[in-house]
Amino acid sequence: MSKRDYYEVLGVSKNAGDDEMKKAYRKLAMKCHPDRNPGDKAAEESFKEANEAYEVLTDANKRAVYDKYGHEGMQRGGGSDFGGGFADIFGDVFSDIFGGGGGGGRGGPRRGADLRYRIELSLEQAVFGTTETIRIPTVRDCEPCKGNGTADGKPAPTCSTCRGAGQVRVQQGFFVLQQSCPACRGRGTVVTDSCKSCRGAGKIRSEKTLEVKVPAGVDTGDRIRLSGEGEPGERNAPAGDLYVQVEVKPHEIFDRDNNDLHCQVPVGFVVAALGGDMDVPTLNGKAKLTVPEGTQSGKVFRLRGLGVRPVRGGPQGDLLCAVVVETPVHLTRKQKDLLKEFGDTVDKGGEKHSPAASSWLSKAKQFFETHIKPS
Ligand SMILES: [Zn+2]
Ligand SMILES: [Zn+2]
Repeated sequence: MSKRDYYEVLGVSKNAGDDEMKKAYRKLAMKCHPDRNPGDKAAEESFKEANEAYEVLTDANKRAVYDKYGHEGMQRGGGSDFGGGFADIFGDVFSDIFGGGGGGGRGGPRRGADLRYRIELSLEQAVFGTTETIRIPTVRDCEPCKGNGTADGKPAPTCSTCRGAGQVRVQQGFFVLQQSCPACRGRGTVVTDSCKSCRGAGKIRSEKTLEVKVPAGVDTGDRIRLSGEGEPGERNAPAGDLYVQVEVKPHEIFDRDNNDLHCQVPVGFVVAALGGDMDVPTLNGKAKLTVPEGTQSGKVFRLRGLGVRPVRGGPQGDLLCAVVVETPVHLTRKQKDLLKEFGDTVDKGGEKHSPAASSWLSKAKQFFETHIKPS
């Protein structure tokens, strides 16, 4: 199966900015979120596809690689089961293209790879902030050899080729190039008798627990950067960063649109006709909504300041309540009789009580007269 273009997946142009992509991504994520489409494989695939596209296109480095090399550039190095496999893939790509992922020079110690972690939050957690405990993969020094990689646990002997520098100079035509030392592969030491636990690497894969403080007001697509919590760098090179990407799950009652919250409020047709006060839910309690006399289905009431306080500051959003007038069902004979009686009086009033229906009827009548010839 051929992979779709990332820009096409998000439905944005090649020169779309981060804001535009975030908006497009949020829309897609809400539409095909697995919580909203349980058991729908196609939706799940679309969700994954959108995530992948968003992750790549909103990272300047990865976007540059993608723009230049396409999906080929993204697929090198295989995947891991962590955060969609980007850490490993990009660690490899960037060491090739940018010479060590930004750390050191060519052949020097590599800066640790950036890691990405996705957290799913409820709307309430996103709006009010939370602290999440996450477990992420990491590497740590191997215990039996104390990180030396040697069978006896003592520091490995210095490489004689590069004298421990990890790099050698090579003459190539007129140029002298600095290269990673071929004898020790840039490590600066040569392990002859390797530690059995780590096979000479000195490091083993492990997990660490981190507390992530999620500020109030975050939304799907926002990222929290934890500096230095990515993969450790090689030989004292700086560690990468950890990017925690926020994913807000769909809510039973509210739909979020930036800082506004939307909800639907079913209103009985008697209240809609006569008017009345009713309680509507807010994220932390309830508010009073006054439904005026003669309210129609679809009418939206804006409750100011009951939306989301944006994470980057600014005024709090609003709560928008869309009225859905509910037609009563399962009526008793007596109720039906009452309604018929009521209906007769409304019909007699004509345009006065049902302006929309009357104007529609007269338009329909006109339409028939002009377009339909009597046969
Ligand atoms: Zn060497
Ligand atoms: Zn070891």
